[in-house]
Formats: sequence, C-alpha cells, structure tokens
Amino acid sequence: VGVLFIDLDDFKVVNDTLGHATGDQLLIAVAGRIAGALRADDTAARLGGDEFAALVENVQDPGAVEETATRILAALSEPIIVDGGSLQAVASIGITTTPEADTADALLRQADLALYVAKGAGKNQWRRYQSHLHSAMVERLELRSALDHAVNEGHFLLQFQPIVDLATDEAVGFEALVRWHHPQRGIIAPDEFIEVAEESGLIVPMGRWVLDQALHTVAQWRRILPRARQPYVSVNVSVRQFRQSGFVEQVKASLEYAGVPARALMLEITETLLMGDDEQIWADLAVLQELGVRIAIDDFGTGYSSLGYLRQRPIDVLKIDKTFIDDMVGSEQQLALVAGIVSLARTLNLTVVAEGIEDATHRLILAQLGCPLGQGYYYSAPLDATEALAWLRNPLPLAVA
Ligand code: C2E
Ligand code: MG
Ligand code: MG
Repeated sequence: VGVLFIDLDDFKVVNDTLGHATGDQLLIAVAGRIAGALRADDTAARLGGDEFAALVENVQDPGAVEETATRILAALSEPIIVDGGSLQAVASIGITTTPEADTADALLRQADLALYVAKGAGKNQWRRYQSHLHSAMVERLELRSALDHAVNEGHFLLQFQPIVDLATDEAVGFEALVRWHHPQRGIIAPDEFIEVAEESGLIVPMGRWVLDQALHTVAQWRRILPRARQPYVSVNVSVRQFRQSGFVEQVKASLEYAGVPARALMLEITETLLMGDDEQIWADLAVLQELGVRIAIDDFGTGYSSLGYLRQRPIDVLKIDKTFIDDMVGSEQQLALVAGIVSLARTLNLTVVAEGIEDATHRLILAQLGCPLGQGYYYSAPLDATEALAWLRNPLPLAVA
C-alpha cells in the first residue's frame, strides 16, 4: 500500500484574511478534489484542520503512488470558486509505501516526515520518504518544536548592522537581524530557522517581538544621541507576517508604544512578497508609507522579473543583493548591472543600499557609481545593541576590514 499525507500550504492565511467560513468552504472543495483524484479502490480521509490523507491499495509499481500525488496537486491547482471569488488551494504531500514500514503507525509517521521535507522544499510539491533521510527529517521536526519553545520562552536576541553613508562613512541606520539563543547549541543564525518559522507560523509571534525590540532599542539610542545623528532601524518582514490580518495596526501600535516617529522605521520586504500583484499588499504598504514608515525591497535583483512595479508603487529603498556586489569586481557585466540599478533608482527617486560590502574596493567602486548607502563586513558585522551604540558614536576605529 501507499500512504499520502496532504497538508495545505498557507491555509492559515485564508482563515486569517478571508474568515473561517470561507476557510471551511475551501476545505470542503479540497476534499472533493482529493477524492476525485483517487481510483475507486483508494481511500481519502481528513485527519483534522487542513490535513488530509489517502490510502492507495494494491500498488504494483511504487511510481503509481507518486502519480497519485501528482494528480492531487494538479486537481488542486484548478481555481476553486468560493463565495463568488476564485481561490487556489496549494498543498504539500508526503508519501511512503510498504515495505518501507510494515505497521500502520510507522507508515503514517514516515509519510508525515516526508511531508515536512516537502514543505521545506518550497511547498506545492510531493516528497517520498527515504530511509537515508530519516535523521535529517527528524531533525527538522525537532527544530520546529524547539523553535516553538524558543518563541514561548523568548530565546531570541537582535543584532544591528550599520547602514552607512558611503560619502561620509557615518551610520544613518541599522538593520535589525534576529538570532536564536539556543540553550545547548548557542547562537543560531536566521538562515537555519526562518524557513521553519515561516512554515509553522511561528514567524508571526517572533516577528512581533523583533519589531518591538528593534523599536525599543532605536528609541533608547534616539534619546541619547544628538538630533542630527539619530539613526533609523530597518526590520525584515516575511510574507507570512505581512499577510496576517492586522499587521498595519500592529506596526502603528508598536511605534506608539516605543514612542518613535514612523521615520525611524524601515521595513524590508523581499520581491517574492510582491509577486502575484496582490492589491491588498500594495494598499497596506501604501498605508504604512503614508504614516512615514519607509519601505525597502530586500535582496533586490534576485526575485521579481518585471521592473514596472517600481514606478508607481509605495517603495523608498532598493537593497542591492550581495551577490551583485561580490561579482562586480571581476565582471564588467555585473558592474554594468550595479551601475544600472543605481542610476535607475536615482531616476525613480529611490534610495539604494548596497549589501555585503566586504572590502575597500567594493566601497570605492560603489561610491564612484554614486551609490549613496551600503552595509557589510567592511564597515561592521552585526553588533549587539551596546556595541552598535558605541559604533554610532565613534565609527572609525572599529571600521577596519
Ligand atoms: P538579509 O536581510 O539580506 O540580511 C543580510 C545578511 O547578510 C545578514 O545575515 C548579514 O549578517 C549578512 N551580511 C552583512 N554584511 C555581510 C558581508 O559583508 N558579507 C557577508 N557574507 N554577509 C554579510 P543574517 O543575519 O544571517 O541574516 C540572514 C537573513 O535572515 C536576512 O537576510 C533576512 O532575510 C533573514 N532575517 C534576519 N533577521 C530577520 C527577522 O527578524 N525577520 C525575518 N523575517 N527575517 C530575518
Ligand atoms: Mg534584510
Ligand atoms: Mg538582503
């Protein structure tokens, strides 16, 4: 037999933004689609929430179970009409078959592990359980439950990396970067847990903490420093956070609570957030910009294929991805691209921040191109709040490569 574990991707977003009644309608439609993609001998079930399963019997060829998974994904990809609006259900699927295991419990556990791998692989995919991946799969699950614990216990800290005016080498702001202080493993970098935080929804409470903590810190700095040198703080916001209802209100409330003006806050979003031209997102960004919060496109150049959106949309800053800066020195073409982005931004009245400035050559080239701002190890690695304040007061001695 083959067992498929099916879990909707981002179903919570549907509930949060369109309401539970619409969520219920979507689940009913999904159940129909899944049942319709199975053969007469197979069994479909709803396990709870947005989790479904299928049992495929009399399997002669393991490929047949994979075909079933592909059929289910295809069946779900057709738009679903709910309340007169069109929705699309996207799912991840974990698969296993006998004889990988010979008890029902073990099969279900394997399918569940494979599902986590599918989720981690970027959703809308299926993955088959592989015994040699067992420990990696278990690790991912453990990471998720440890992260859940960390969110409840507040085991995070923020570091701040200076964003520097390339003409004067003075910091104008800081990017807040989250770290996980793991009781056994020590400090863990975000690349190791942001993805799991996003897929589990833990990014929402974590992100709220990051925003509050970043504003609290910048508020302290601004009380101490002379007016002309008060920095802003730039906070990364993931799609999932942004799409939760009430995000704009949350930002407003956090600003008020910290007692800092909206100008002191920049939000970094990645281009992928903007894909699909979701008008609600643009409207929310416009409200934030109207308040005075600045909006930056992070990792610019790595995501969206069309530049048209830059023109009329509520965007203030482009952060050129580090990969462009890395390659700029050895390649005329890369250099031309960076020069192009800088001049495009100037024409559109946007500010540019170059990311990943690692040496004096990078800095020199960028300054010559007229790139106004930059950040990178050349100036400083991310620092603790007190180190950042010291840097702000006296940037030069620490700014050695
Ligand atoms: P990002 O927003 O593009 O942040 C820049 C990353 O590049 C940071 O890594 C920073 O430490 C690193 N970096 C800065 N200068 C240099 C350099 O000169 N050379 C090199 N090799 N690296 C440099 P970090 O802190 O590990 O963050 C990685 C990513 O995690 C961030 O990329 C961001 O996408 C995400 N992230 C960090 N904090 C948060 C957060 O609070 N919320 C969310 N949603 N995502 C976050
Ligand atoms: Mg960033
Ligand atoms: Mg970046």
